[in-house]
Amino acid sequence: MNLADHIRDIPDFPKPGIVFKDITPVLADPAALDAAVQGLADWARPLEIDVVIGAEARGFLLGPAIARELGAGFVLARKPGKLPHETIRAEYELEYGTDSLELHTDAVSRGHRVLVHDDLLATGGTAAALASLVEQAGGVVAGCAFLIELAFLAGRERLAGADIHALVRYD
Ligand code: 5GP
Repeated sequence: MNLADHIRDIPDFPKPGIVFKDITPVLADPAALDAAVQGLADWARPLEIDVVIGAEARGFLLGPAIARELGAGFVLARKPGKLPHETIRAEYELEYGTDSLELHTDAVSRGHRVLVHDDLLATGGTAAALASLVEQAGGVVAGCAFLIELAFLAGRERLAGADIHALVRYD
């Protein structure tokens, strides 16, 4: 299974000059979906994960399936104001300005081993915000797993020291 065959380039989305990696064909194909979930779960299995944290919104697609494979739970990091219970917050930089993600205060237990997950690692701002939420909650970032890494944007450098894996890498 070559997962890259199921990732589609969309030029000028969401704005001119950006080539968006569309993962919906991975989700739509049974064998590709299975390879994506199993590939990330197989990599994470030795990390003894207690809980997977996924970023809104595309981190919610594979995250729960990976968690189930690992016998772990899944928790949601959402845009501000979306989570109903008490939250903690982490800010991250966008090209222009900042954005935030929130996590329920009781979503990650102290000392729990957490897998940070999103569909794609670009500049690393989103994943670094996830790691910050885990650490604020007293959890341990045991690893970071992505379907895609845009290696030329050097997102890994924002996750210094973390164990990072992506199934498809663009250099
Ligand atoms: P970063 O914070 O690492 O710069 O950007 C990663 C975030 O932006 C992820 O949440 C991801 O869903 C989204 N993202 C940025 N570019 C793309 C893209 O080309 N394709 C997809 N599927 N997501 C992207």
